[in-house]
Amino acid sequence: MTAVAFLGLGAIGAPMAKHLAAPEFSLRVWNRTASRAASFAAQYQATHSDTPAAAAAGAKFVVTCLPTSDDVAALLDGPAGLEAGLAEGAMLIDCTSGDPATSRRIASRLAARGVAFIDAPVSGGVAGAEIGTLTIMVGGSPTDMNRAMPVLEAFGEKIVHCGPVGAGHALKAINQAMLAVHIWSLGEGLAALARAGVNPAVALDVINASSGRSNSSQNLFPQRVLTRAFPRTFRLALLDKDVGIAARALREQKVPAPMIQLAAELMSMAHRELGEEADHVEAVKVIERIAGEVID
Ligand code: NDP
Repeated sequence: MTAVAFLGLGAIGAPMAKHLAAPEFSLRVWNRTASRAASFAAQYQATHSDTPAAAAAGAKFVVTCLPTSDDVAALLDGPAGLEAGLAEGAMLIDCTSGDPATSRRIASRLAARGVAFIDAPVSGGVAGAEIGTLTIMVGGSPTDMNRAMPVLEAFGEKIVHCGPVGAGHALKAINQAMLAVHIWSLGEGLAALARAGVNPAVALDVINASSGRSNSSQNLFPQRVLTRAFPRTFRLALLDKDVGIAARALREQKVPAPMIQLAAELMSMAHRELGEEADHVEAVKVIERIAGEVID
């Protein structure tokens, strides 16, 4: 059995961790709100630890899935922190949608202690995590990725080496910027069409048979906007964070990217308007308010 620790049992972390509660792994979990880790351990084949250090002790692989890279970096600190528990030869697999620069700093801090690091952000949502079909974007050495494969394959289906440490996070951030652009532009388009008397369901039917289609038009809007269901699977606060990472990286690299910069502004505005708990698709509600049209 391979000893694995999983830290961060949030909306996507918990269903990912479930796949490691399996005979080939010995799983320890830790969560900031301890009751979540305790109830996970009561339900699945896992034990829960009181501190990150205790969870990591003796683990060959430690998986983190927290909101930001800063949260992961902070988790390393102190006598009860992750770094204190990580043994030489272990590997930290960071599935957070994080930022490349912080991950490079974490990787070199851990390398000094003989601990490997890969960034391995995921896409496919909570539904993909539940059934273990996530896409995983890996940054790090190919050797480290190959070593981590048994863990990654537990919850991932398409596992892609993207480049050195930080490359997975860079790719994920750009994907998220595209998601934000799709949601926002489709929201504006459907609100305008509603004003012109076109039923949003009719508009989506046509768009989905045409070149403007996207995951937003094929899945998110029919299932969540037209129905007004707006389930909370991925917080708008996290999408704001992701698009902010993309916009900042592009500014730092002096790459002209006016659309991604605008998408970051829009996500930040929607996040401010709707608060911490709103789902990302609810950004459409801000467009509806501005346009005075409901997309239903
Ligand atoms: P949630 O907000 O649902 O959960 C966040 C988790 O991190 C919780 O376990 C929370 O603990 C913990 N946490 C928050 N802040 C800290 C901190 N400062 N120190 C330690 N632990 C902390 O987020 P998700 O699970 O949705 O997202 C996790 C990561 O995965 C994010 O980077 C997100 O962008 C990414 N992601 C999410 C997807 C989704 O569909 N949800 C899809 C793809 C990527 P507590 O229980 O105490 O609040």
